[in-house]
Amino acid sequence: MRRDFSPTASPEPDEEEPLYSPRKKVYPQRVKGTYRTIKWIVLGITLGIYYGLPFLRWDRGPDAPGQAVLLDLPSRRFYFFFIEIWPQEIYYVTALLILAAMTLFLMNAIAGRVWCGYLCPQTVWTDLYQAVERWFEGDRREHLLRDREPWSVERLARSGGKHAVWLMVAWWTGGAWVLYFADAPTLVADLATFQAPAVAYLWIGILTFTTYTLAGHMREQVCLYMCPWPRIQAALTDEHALNVTYRYERGEPRGSVKKSAARRARGEPAGDCIDCHQCVYVCPTGIDIRNGANLGCIQCGLCIDACDTVMAKVGRPARLIAYDTDLNIKLRSEGKPGRYPIIRARTLFYAAIIAVVGAVTLYTLATRVSEGLSVIHDRNPMFVRLADGELRNAYTVRILNKSLDTRTFALSVEGLPDLDLKVVGENYTSGPIVRVSVGPDQTHELRALVSTYSSLPPGASIPLTFRITDVKSGQRASAVDHFRAP
Ligand code: SF4
Ligand code: SF4
Repeated sequence: MRRDFSPTASPEPDEEEPLYSPRKKVYPQRVKGTYRTIKWIVLGITLGIYYGLPFLRWDRGPDAPGQAVLLDLPSRRFYFFFIEIWPQEIYYVTALLILAAMTLFLMNAIAGRVWCGYLCPQTVWTDLYQAVERWFEGDRREHLLRDREPWSVERLARSGGKHAVWLMVAWWTGGAWVLYFADAPTLVADLATFQAPAVAYLWIGILTFTTYTLAGHMREQVCLYMCPWPRIQAALTDEHALNVTYRYERGEPRGSVKKSAARRARGEPAGDCIDCHQCVYVCPTGIDIRNGANLGCIQCGLCIDACDTVMAKVGRPARLIAYDTDLNIKLRSEGKPGRYPIIRARTLFYAAIIAVVGAVTLYTLATRVSEGLSVIHDRNPMFVRLADGELRNAYTVRILNKSLDTRTFALSVEGLPDLDLKVVGENYTSGPIVRVSVGPDQTHELRALVSTYSSLPPGASIPLTFRITDVKSGQRASAVDHFRAP
């Protein structure tokens, strides 16, 4: 019976795979080519950014951290170059997550699983770990043979060296992670002298363990069984998305160079695939792309490089395996030229969301105010009637100074006849306007007492406007609460 090699071919009933099968260790072979080069470049850039970014400095003045990217948990601030995000501005993080998700969807609509193949941390670190492994254990064949040999001093030394370097890379990965949460040069010195906080060592330990396990040992299993993206991506994809595709109409019937030559000589059809398995040997997830679309294919393009090398050797045209769309496969099978429309409803939709969310985020960042005010009315008691007849309500007032200079604000309250304002504690006095000084990049909380001798209707709830005005720049912020009467 002739086997169906089409991408949509489903397995025969007796070929059905069991629900669970033990892992077969993958020994990916070294490969050279266009996509391998692109992957090395992306690996260099992404790892360079990850390990180097905490050391990039950014001058924000003497009262603010000088690290370009810093998640300052004790001060509850996130610094990203010229942007400083306060906890109240969590919506910027929401916008960032929406932008990241939409960019991923757009990338998928244009170029398939390009994220998985080139940019995903699991792919990048696994690539790095495989390079280390090849350096110690040799390429696929050598490594396979070594794994079958009994343990010897040489094998132990090679294996030990590999694991030591893996652990070192994992330790650096964890170390770089914690540097995003504190001043990097200071923390490096503290870590080296064992004076860093215990939580830093704990996180380095956790990240060392996860990196070593996921990139060194689990590798393709993370993509196959743990990562949700292949499933989500499969639901988002369409006939226009690029996939790594074996051109079975050109490759089949496959056979050795000799057999194919004999077939051609007899006038029988012969495909270009010489069944050398090079595309399978280089695959980091160990799959045979000739069997059609596969969830395990991260679309890294390494099988394309391998097959192109083989095709060059046997004198056949390149790209027997290539990035292609389902639509183009169909068109070519009908003898029509392929097409690749990037501008489609789907890509326009994602691009529009990115543009709108990006524009709104940029606008709010550009027009962001550097002061803020919040007011909370005391719950118990709601009001107090003093012996001289004065009616008083108390409030907790919080003034935010998001700028990097100390500022003096005039705090005032409006909305009540005959109003008196007192601020409790420190040097603050009473009066219609109270001056409050707030340090750079700080929040100042104070207790304000608002009172009046005017008679108010029983049970009245009168809106009050609290206002702060920067005495130098005139910048203002306000908040509304109520004055309650008995
Ligand atoms: S590398 Fe190319 S020729 Fe060799 S088995 Fe794979 S598809 Fe066929
Ligand atoms: S089949 Fe090809 S593109 Fe897919 S993961 Fe394997 S080598 Fe990468």
